[in-house]
Amino acid sequence: MAKNMIDVDHLTIRFNLANQKVNNLKEYTIKMIKHELMFQEFFALKDVNLHVAKGESWGLIGTNGSGKSTLLKAVTGILKPFEGTVKVRGKIAPMIELGAGFDMELTARENIFLNGAVLGHSNSFMEEHFDDIVEFAGLGDFLDSPIKNYSSGMKARLGFAVATMVDPEILIVDEVLSVGDYQFRKKCAERMGEMLSGGTTLLYVSHDIDSVKRLCTHAMWLDHGDVIMAGPAREVCDAYNTRQEQNFLIEKKEKEVRKAKESGNKYDYLIVGAGLYGATFAQEAFKAGKRCLVIDRRDHIGGNVYTEKVGDINVHCYGAHIFHTSNPQIWSYVQRFASFNNFINTPIAMYKGEGYNLPFNMNTFSKLWGLYTPEEVQAKIASQIADLGITEPKNLEEQALSLVGRDVYEKLVKGYTEKQWGRDCKELPAFIIRRLPLRFTYNNNYFSDRYQGIPMDGYTAMVEKMLEGVDVMLETDYKTFIKDHAGEFGKIVYTGPVDEYFDYQLGHLQYRSVRFETEQLDMPNYQGNAVVNYTEREVPYTRIIEHKHFEFGEQENTIISREYPQEWKPGLEPYYPINDEENNALYAQYEALAAKEKNVIFGGRLGKYKYYDMDKVILEALLDVQKELKRKLIDLPEEA
Ligand SMILES: Cc1cc2nc3c(=O)[nH]c(=O)nc-3n(C[C@H](O)[C@H](O)[C@H](O)COP(=O)(O)OP(=O)(O)OC[C@H]3O[C@@H](n4cnc5c(N)ncnc54)[C@H](O)[C@@H]3O)c2cc1C
Repeated sequence: MAKNMIDVDHLTIRFNLANQKVNNLKEYTIKMIKHELMFQEFFALKDVNLHVAKGESWGLIGTNGSGKSTLLKAVTGILKPFEGTVKVRGKIAPMIELGAGFDMELTARENIFLNGAVLGHSNSFMEEHFDDIVEFAGLGDFLDSPIKNYSSGMKARLGFAVATMVDPEILIVDEVLSVGDYQFRKKCAERMGEMLSGGTTLLYVSHDIDSVKRLCTHAMWLDHGDVIMAGPAREVCDAYNTRQEQNFLIEKKEKEVRKAKESGNKYDYLIVGAGLYGATFAQEAFKAGKRCLVIDRRDHIGGNVYTEKVGDINVHCYGAHIFHTSNPQIWSYVQRFASFNNFINTPIAMYKGEGYNLPFNMNTFSKLWGLYTPEEVQAKIASQIADLGITEPKNLEEQALSLVGRDVYEKLVKGYTEKQWGRDCKELPAFIIRRLPLRFTYNNNYFSDRYQGIPMDGYTAMVEKMLEGVDVMLETDYKTFIKDHAGEFGKIVYTGPVDEYFDYQLGHLQYRSVRFETEQLDMPNYQGNAVVNYTEREVPYTRIIEHKHFEFGEQENTIISREYPQEWKPGLEPYYPINDEENNALYAQYEALAAKEKNVIFGGRLGKYKYYDMDKVILEALLDVQKELKRKLIDLPEEA
């Protein structure tokens, strides 16, 4: 097996840092004899291993003081190991501190020979290459001037020209490309490129991570002398960049908290609720330099869109959530935080063991009646509606019958709706169903929106990204929290139930709730579809969600959730506002109270007592935060 060009094994480099300043040699000697010299040990590298094969190019990355240059110096032999070994096979061209061996009083001509000697070249060899060096360094008329008069760029040019005069087997470069003008940097990069394609091995240190990605096959990330990661350059550089961004955010946050302490107010905004509304508001306010604290009484972020990874299946813990919108701005906005898959919702309705496609379309009708043309189907529905003779529907049953006829109503609407509302359709008001869309095409796509999908890593990861950099406190209820922290916030953004905010002083708003029963099954595929509705009354649940199908999962097991609608009472999760006349009137009174709370912004489905789809709630939050910050965020139409 070919030997490596560089083998670094268990390398530890130790420096002794003097505890006090010693001004000159005399003082140093006296202190040493008197045993007054105290040192502190400092480990610049700790147990580092690096093995570089011929032709490989390794980038060393890390913040200042991480040990990158120390490692280069150990490889070039400038520093000796405290522990471990360094073996180098091949001739090195070190470009660590370009022109480090120059004598400032000598001319460039004299320094070329001096520097060449330092690098181990003979006088005749230097004479042979003299003209090339001068040409590459571009010194022109300054060849016979003392280099103390040179700019740092000119010195670097000269140093680079001498160091790269021969094609070395190993090239060691420490940040030299950052000095000098554009032309020089380009010339250096070209020469290095030529060397690499000629089989030279490279060790390269730079803070310019893009140049590491470009030049290197491998990278090692060092931090305070420890190796954090080593491997393919792209992977290591990406991980390093991510960490740097995180560190930047943490520093920014710490700065904000310091600023906040000085100003008395801890935060500009207290955002109650880590759901989509709260996360969108927090994200935009934070980006605008506002200090935000998000609290949520649940033990997780995301509100109702929360997904939990069980094995590698993302479970939609509060019911199926399918993102769909016709608003290109909102679609492009959410792409900032997640990549979406191309899931299309095509639910199935199960009635007494028979499956029908939803929404009601030609596939549904042909299964129901064996009719295959829109004309026949429209005639069938029209005749069923006419037979019923309902002119003024008095309840939901009559309303539905007058919209879709008897067969569709009885098999696909009645039982499902009664379970949803916990009451007989005859006892439900007609307004609940205004429309029952019928499609006379063979199209099972439930939504007619232009964009649709599911975040590939789950909704929680998406909301996590939205809340990056923002302080979040979970299991924290607003009412309890604010007792001890009143006055610490510029403003409050409240996405909890509006009636709860006012201590139910005007009475309770009503909701429908849902109980989810989740089960793991030892089989790869339970129902073959993400969503199956059970439309007969006798089956106690309304639908079964099979979570893996939202992500086209191919796991060996599966997870399903049955949904049982239930009457809401205090203590249960309020899911769907019941926007009937009575509740709307009560909400109008709460809304009037809310308008008087000048320091509170009420938002989201609970704050506004209104059902929002996800795109709509994000849009509402963006419009609100835009108004609040008095700046345009994105081109937002009022309708999602
Ligand atoms: C079963 C179901 C299925 C849905 N499916 C879809 C779908 O497929 N597609 C779609 O577009 N939309 C869907 N939605 C709608 C979607 O869930 C909402 O648009 C979205 O969750 C609303 O976000 P939000 O921030 O307003 O509210 P939430 O997500 O409810 O967030 C509010 C947060 O505030 C917290 N909170 C409340 N009070 C307090 C308090 N006093 N102190 C501290 N924290 C508090 C809550 O714990 C909660 O986490 C569905 C909704 C339901 C109920």
